[in-house]
Amino acid sequence: MKLVRLTLPHPPTGAVEQALLERACRYAIEWLHADQLVWAGMAAPTAPAERLPSAPAAAAAAAFPEPGPALFAPDYAFDWCELAADGTVRKREQIPFRLPGVPGLCDFHVHTPLAYCQENLELGAIFELARIAGAEFALSEHSCQLYFSREDCRKSLSGGSWRRGDCARRRRMDDYFLLWRDAARLGRFHRSFELDVADDGACVIEPADRRRAELTLGAVHQLDTAPDPRRARTEFLFRCESLLRSGVTILAHPFRVFVWSGMAVPEDLFAPLVALLKRYGAAAELNFHKYAPSPEFALLCARSGVKLSLGSDAHNLHEVAALHPHLHFLHELGLEPEAVLLRAPGYTAVQR
Ligand SMILES: [Zn+2]
Ligand SMILES: [Zn+2]
Repeated sequence: MKLVRLTLPHPPTGAVEQALLERACRYAIEWLHADQLVWAGMAAPTAPAERLPSAPAAAAAAAFPEPGPALFAPDYAFDWCELAADGTVRKREQIPFRLPGVPGLCDFHVHTPLAYCQENLELGAIFELARIAGAEFALSEHSCQLYFSREDCRKSLSGGSWRRGDCARRRRMDDYFLLWRDAARLGRFHRSFELDVADDGACVIEPADRRRAELTLGAVHQLDTAPDPRRARTEFLFRCESLLRSGVTILAHPFRVFVWSGMAVPEDLFAPLVALLKRYGAAAELNFHKYAPSPEFALLCARSGVKLSLGSDAHNLHEVAALHPHLHFLHELGLEPEAVLLRAPGYTAVQR
């Protein structure tokens, strides 16, 4: 039996505390696979806690005899324990929201209020959550969403639409540059795009716009030939190589498109994709946004010298710099973050 204790010094106030509460509940459910939640300090707030039952008070007191760390300031942490069948404590651990000290640790994949698919993102809260996590971050907005209307941005990637220009254009790129300017007033961050790639292999970005970024992610978000497995594999490798040839720094969420298209991940493409990443000198992203990356693919990257980059793919504040599952994944595979991770732009070993 696993119990996660959340000590709330007061009801959550503001977007940052609400995001931390949501993150702790999601970690409890999706990452730690807890059976029950223990609320200390105050009664359980409503959502998102409803998704796990609360532990009976007597069981909670026996499992956690000492006071716990506060979920919000000053501690920014929670704890959990695992009980044996006879009720004795088998394991107990405290999880700070601050990430372990890995120099150059960076969440390369944070969306912005300009994403059509974002939920509650707000610049000030993004900076505060990254500060609490102790990680650098890059704002990486979907390039096609900055050129096309909400309705047409997916269509722009299919059937030569990008080439023919028959999609409803809605240039918001200058809004994105203004957002970068506003962000620069709040602190340090990195300027990036998540580049889309059209079916003809063109990256959906104007060269002049692309030059303003420090780095770029590239992502395959749709396969027009799905669910035909043979043609989808060919299309996938073509779109990936087009992004890599154009010079992206990171291939975002490799293989997720198969899962989201209702197909099995073609594991025999792991080696060909690693070979492409190696040839073009790009990193492969570890991404847990509604997805679970493949351990075998990550190991193959690490053994081949292909760097792994961490991305929350945050569309909601609770995801910003929430990289604990990523680091846990590396730990379980026996991979040393210092050896395998792509570091923040500008990081050099000399800084250590
Ligand atoms: Zn993406
Ligand atoms: Zn994304």
